[in-house]
Amino acid sequence: MRNMMRNLWSRRTFLASTASPWLMPSFANVTDADEVQRSPTLDIHAHLFGIGDGGTGCRMSRSITDGPAFRYLMAMLKLRVPGRTVDGRYEEVLVQQTHQSGLTKAAILGQDAVYDNRGKADWKRTSFYVPNDYVFTVVARNSELFIACPSINPNRGDAVEELERCHENGARLLKIHPPTQGVNVADTRHSKFFRRCAELNVIVLVHTGHEHSAPVIDKSLAAPRRLKLALDQGCTVVACHAGTGWISDSPDQLPEFLSLLKRYPNLWGDTAVLGSAGRVRDFERLLEDKNQVCSRLLHGSDFPFPAVPAAFAARIGDTTAARIAGESNLLKRDFDLKEALGIGRASAEAAYDLVFNRRTPMTASD
Ligand SMILES: [Zn+2]
Repeated sequence: MRNMMRNLWSRRTFLASTASPWLMPSFANVTDADEVQRSPTLDIHAHLFGIGDGGTGCRMSRSITDGPAFRYLMAMLKLRVPGRTVDGRYEEVLVQQTHQSGLTKAAILGQDAVYDNRGKADWKRTSFYVPNDYVFTVVARNSELFIACPSINPNRGDAVEELERCHENGARLLKIHPPTQGVNVADTRHSKFFRRCAELNVIVLVHTGHEHSAPVIDKSLAAPRRLKLALDQGCTVVACHAGTGWISDSPDQLPEFLSLLKRYPNLWGDTAVLGSAGRVRDFERLLEDKNQVCSRLLHGSDFPFPAVPAAFAARIGDTTAARIAGESNLLKRDFDLKEALGIGRASAEAAYDLVFNRRTPMTASD
């Protein structure tokens, strides 16, 4: 199996060097379709959320649950069902949609708290929380579909211990969300934490770019340049959202991501939430560079935040946009949109490869 994957990968690498695969939505015109179907795919960025009913330990602040986005998602995903908990129903929908998405697996993300300067959880400043134990519980119930992406705020007093515990529980990746968790990932106090991530081959996902779905403590914490510390410690880092934002957002953080990408071979980006209407301009800027940039983007949906195919109609055509918009499965809608944009399957295979096959971190000198 490993040999088959290696052969397929080298064949794909060869194809990438001779003709850009990003121009060929599923390689179907250049290689054997059955072989392509067998290549496993991963959505590296799907959220596990909860309000804490049913003893999940999740938390969500009133500033979120009173907002229109929350009410919209509750209605769209049909999360209020008599006799059922919201958290249980959310898990059920996530399982159903992943199962029917056509993707092999999805990484489900936890969300750590904000921590005070003594390393203790600061619940007043935490807008939402998804405990790592809940992530592992849901993964254990659906291990054929999900892999765990726990969240560890490096500001917590026991950050290294929690990292080692999550690694022992099978975590191959973790998530940090600097603007909502109030953490400066460039602070050299965190060097030890990132060195341990590199030693354990735990991939570090960090939110970059402008956040529009949760209360932000400090938007400057989402700047891609802050990833240098983790990259210099040898970590494999995924810049979630690739430093993107809306046209109205300032400053423009995308150039920082692009310049880091040139400098660090251990840096990747993900395509989470890039199918939304506000990110069209920045997604198109990423898609401009088919080889240097697109080959370093990993598929992520940002479930449950929906893709909006109509926003991309100028590029994919009205008929295709309408067809994809009619897909009620949010993971599939997002994947189909990205496939139509030429970056679906290849980036989902790259995500699977990074997480499951390439276990040795690269350094800038490689
Ligand atoms: Zn996200």
